[in-house]
Amino acid sequence: MNSTSQAKIFELLRVYNRSRENIRLLIGISPMTDYEKVGFIDAWQEEMADYFGRNGYCFACNRLLDRCRCEEPLARSTCHTA
Ligand SMILES: [Zn+2]
Repeated sequence: MNSTSQAKIFELLRVYNRSRENIRLLIGISPMTDYEKVGFIDAWQEEMADYFGRNGYCFACNRLLDRCRCEEPLARSTCHTA
């Protein structure tokens, strides 16, 4: 892994962590039921997996998709075409 792709994954993880904080705050003040919250978090995780996938990374292991060894890489949009 070269330094450019290192920087990239750090950037992706920073976006992910910030987004997760926002989601947690939102869930905390939201009147949603637990069931709705689970669906909401699922949708957000899918969105993050797509985001990682679009940038060439697996959301599950944080590796480049070429190096990903996951049985089911969490990057639906690109993994099978990459
Ligand atoms: Zn992976």
